[in-house]
Amino acid sequence: IRAQVSDLKFIAEIGHGSCGHVSKYTYNGQLMAVKEMVKSANAEEMKRIIMDLDVVTKASDCPNIVHAYGYFITPEKVMVCMEVMATCLDRLLRRTSNAPVPEPIIGQIAVSVLTALDYLKEKHHIIHRDVKPSNILLDWNGVVKLCDFGISGNLIQSKVYTRQAGCPPYMAPERLDPNASPNYDIRSDVWSFGITMVELARGKYPYANLNNEFDIFSEIMRGEPPVLTIGEGFSEEFVDFVSLLLQKEVERRPKYNKLLNHPFIVRSKNEDTDVVDWFANIMQLDD
Ligand code: ADP
Ligand code: MG
Repeated sequence: IRAQVSDLKFIAEIGHGSCGHVSKYTYNGQLMAVKEMVKSANAEEMKRIIMDLDVVTKASDCPNIVHAYGYFITPEKVMVCMEVMATCLDRLLRRTSNAPVPEPIIGQIAVSVLTALDYLKEKHHIIHRDVKPSNILLDWNGVVKLCDFGISGNLIQSKVYTRQAGCPPYMAPERLDPNASPNYDIRSDVWSFGITMVELARGKYPYANLNNEFDIFSEIMRGEPPVLTIGEGFSEEFVDFVSLLLQKEVERRPKYNKLLNHPFIVRSKNEDTDVVDWFANIMQLDD
């Protein structure tokens, strides 16, 4: 039986971002989160996006990747159908009025995100290109899953993309350098992951004190990278882990295999942290 767009029934809007919006739909009674993106006028670009969509729906056999059921292409748009998640880390921080996330919880998030990024790279040769708190989601069981790989990354490099006002940049210094290699290195994602770690640890985006994009970009390129300190109550392992992610020179940043063996990650894997309990308490708070 061929799936048809007309079988999708709109339920409610979830949110919108840099390259589309996400809504709840049902498809034959099954609840889904559907990401809708306006189609690109450029045929070449569209071909690449569609190729990526194929990978997106195949790259679901990892527990830390948001499951995608499939996609629809209509004359106007592309719709990717995914499992519905409870929330993303970005909303979670807003929900708690930017309370710092406890280090053991960050440890579990770090293990999940690294597992997903390593899986995408090793099994499917995909670079995420858009690692940030709003692309790290949690389900009701407290399982942390990554979404929006590949497609959103390709869109970012295309003309379709207009950065959403107020969405802070997670780009690595080399992504902002007009003379840098156009080839995207997985280690640019390592930087974005580092910025995300600092944001969770302090409950606040590290460049939040700068109020315009130009100042943020110059600080990323010319300033010292953000650091966490033991004085703030973080463990030595966590402080070291973050300092490795946030090295300005891309060649010095470790790749995933190395990061997965870092003491902070090894310790987090061996810890018995109750993410569900922490998460359930937060979800009880009012919006
Ligand atoms: P962004 O650039 O903020 O990631 P998106 O369009 O990708 O923008 O997502 C918009 C909102 O929808 C985000 O808050 C995101 O967390 C949420 N979202 C995306 N996918 C899902 C999903 N599968 N289940 C629940 N919420 C989702
Ligand atoms: Mg997203």
